[in-house]
Amino acid sequence: MKQDQPRPTPRAGIMDIEAYVPGKSTAPAGVTKVYKLSANENPLGPSPKAIEAAREVAAKLDAYPDGSARRLREAIAEVHGLNPANIICSNGSDEILGLLAQSYLAPGDEAVFTEHAFMVYKIYIQAAGAKPVAVKETDERADIDAILAAVTPATRIVFLANPNNPTGTYVPFQEVRRLHAALPKNVLLVLDAAYAEYVRRNDYEAGIELAGSSENVVMTRTFSKLGLGGARVGWMYGPAHIVDAINRIRGPFNVNATAIEAGIAAIRDRAHIERSVAHNEKWLAWLSGELTGLGLRVTPSVGNFVLIHFPDGKKHSAAAADDYLSARGYILRRVTGYGFPNALRMSVGTEEANRGVIDALKTFLKS
Ligand SMILES: *Cc1c(COP(=O)(O)O)cnc(C)c1O
Repeated sequence: MKQDQPRPTPRAGIMDIEAYVPGKSTAPAGVTKVYKLSANENPLGPSPKAIEAAREVAAKLDAYPDGSARRLREAIAEVHGLNPANIICSNGSDEILGLLAQSYLAPGDEAVFTEHAFMVYKIYIQAAGAKPVAVKETDERADIDAILAAVTPATRIVFLANPNNPTGTYVPFQEVRRLHAALPKNVLLVLDAAYAEYVRRNDYEAGIELAGSSENVVMTRTFSKLGLGGARVGWMYGPAHIVDAINRIRGPFNVNATAIEAGIAAIRDRAHIERSVAHNEKWLAWLSGELTGLGLRVTPSVGNFVLIHFPDGKKHSAAAADDYLSARGYILRRVTGYGFPNALRMSVGTEEANRGVIDALKTFLKS
């Protein structure tokens, strides 16, 4: 290390990382009612049982949480029929994605993801000093052959968001199996199933069976899209040797007490999850139909959001639509950083929010 530097400098590559920019959560001054449709949160809110559990834990905030989140792992295991020893809980699933990158990537290694994939993969790959390899998608969907073609002897991880954010598209599980079968055994396949609960397709699987029967597959999940974004609860399911590696480097109390108790209550509240999924099923279809009816192209989504493409030209561009909607309290997500400069991602909202956006867009497109 050079001794003549005037101040500490981050290690090579850190300053090349573009920080993650979350969606807006506020409207311009003067807008009284705000509909936040930029973060794929649950329009029905948290489970009432999770709220109650969080209230109760508040009185005991002096105590450290259980560092292994055992009761939360057991609750998840019970609901999904898994062995709790193969689960790690985390501060949102983002944390697990970062820990996987830290554990399995070194400088010189490569990790593969798709061109419109969830942005944190690239950040964590770069943070580990490895080389991010983005591969082309076909029709805004992960292309398994393109992924396989990008695998080299330096590849250590393939990240696949299924379904993906911000496109909302998914890869049928047969295709995921084909990907897995063709990957070298030393390449870790990370199946990010953040939206699994919302998918209503017979040919979709989150990856539980594959992660449970392979030495090189993990599945990551989150409570964030089902009403606990603020609590930060995620988890990973995978083979024992990977669980062992991650447990060595994670923070000793990485899941806080509120997250643990709210998470246990939330995952046991099946009725709330079912209501949330039913609401989404109804309004995702409605929104997709209405938007298409307005002449806007919508990427077919199986998640709790839609990617809306705007016409060429300045007048009705995504940026103009964003300004127009924001001024009326509808906060959508700009997705330029994801390779969609002329699209907005809209989370499925309450009935009021959904109808409001469609009405506003009708007027906007006539203007
Ligand atoms: C939201 C999201 C996550 C993780 O969210 P956490 O809040 O960190 O659990 C992971 N992957 C995708 C594709 C997402 O959209």
